[in-house]
Amino acid sequence: MFRAIQIHKDEQGYRSELCQVDDSALPPGDVEIAVQASTINYKDALAITGKGPVVRQFPMVPGIDLVGEVTHSDSGRFKVGDQVLLNGFGVGEKHWGGLAEKARLQSEWLIPLPQALSPQQAMAVGTAGYTAMLCVMALEKHGITPAMGKILVTGAVGGVGSYAVRLLHKLGYDVVASTGRPTETDYLKSLGANEVIDRALLSEPGKPLQKEQWAGVVDCVGSHTLANACATTQYGGAVAACGLAQGMDLPATVAPFILRGVTLYGIDSVMRPLADREAAWQRIGELLTADDFDTIGKTIGLDDVIQAAHDLLDGTIQGRVIVKL
Ligand code: NDP
Repeated sequence: MFRAIQIHKDEQGYRSELCQVDDSALPPGDVEIAVQASTINYKDALAITGKGPVVRQFPMVPGIDLVGEVTHSDSGRFKVGDQVLLNGFGVGEKHWGGLAEKARLQSEWLIPLPQALSPQQAMAVGTAGYTAMLCVMALEKHGITPAMGKILVTGAVGGVGSYAVRLLHKLGYDVVASTGRPTETDYLKSLGANEVIDRALLSEPGKPLQKEQWAGVVDCVGSHTLANACATTQYGGAVAACGLAQGMDLPATVAPFILRGVTLYGIDSVMRPLADREAAWQRIGELLTADDFDTIGKTIGLDDVIQAAHDLLDGTIQGRVIVKL
């Protein structure tokens, strides 16, 4: 038996609870893991509270991110005792995830835990930090260097935005953070933002082409903000779009693309190939140091997960929630 958060949907309704689960109930997979740490992402909070349609089958163990030690392996890629890391691939949505003491998973979803990171540090980063790294790598691959100009990060106080600000700062970029929370200006500057702007400057309908301001953009917000970000990007610049916090729509024109040669990159973390994942996590291990994790958030146990999911959606949690198993 092992302890797990389980989400049920049946005649009693939609509910999440901490349960004792029999090992025989674990889903199929070629690797078994003793989970050491997980985290609560926005998506996990939606799943646990039932406030968003995340879970595709029931009962479900949520948790899209996990780190653990291999306890059984039928895969040539991993052996007992290896530490492994998982983000996404539908885990916590259609396959049992990380908010449990045990998991059984497909080896092709796993990568080795980077040596530079402890399980808790990797979960402080989680899908948020890994997605931010993928966005930064897209801008780098485009050829954007710190000498070319400012980089705009939208939704900057959020998980992805905060890591984007931190990683870009560490790489020497001049970062402009856009936020709706002016009270978090000191926090954003402590992460490395050179300038903090009001998100209202970007969130209303704007002209197809506006003053060129950024060499690159990491956009967590979508909708008018993404349209305005494209319209204010310099000639030949690039925008990495990963989020939809303002909306899923994109009320833009082609003007920035055909008149300024701006490139819009779509960033998906969930189904990303293993080679890109390993490269992103390698970079995270190289760029972030122990003090980057110290201020990131709090560590809780499985008993506190359901309450923390509600708190996260209520906006009363700052930083990241790490779940220690
Ligand atoms: P958070 O909820 O932590 O942060 C989102 C931020 O967006 C908020 O902190 C806020 O920033 C800003 N925001 C929220 N509502 C609005 C609004 N109406 N208008 C403008 N800005 C708004 O989420 P994450 O950082 O974890 O994720 C960011 C986005 O990226 C989400 O949409 C998420 O679904 C998506 N995502 C996508 C992934 C992928 O693979 N493509 C992976 C992970 C996340 P502030 O307070 O600074 O204004």
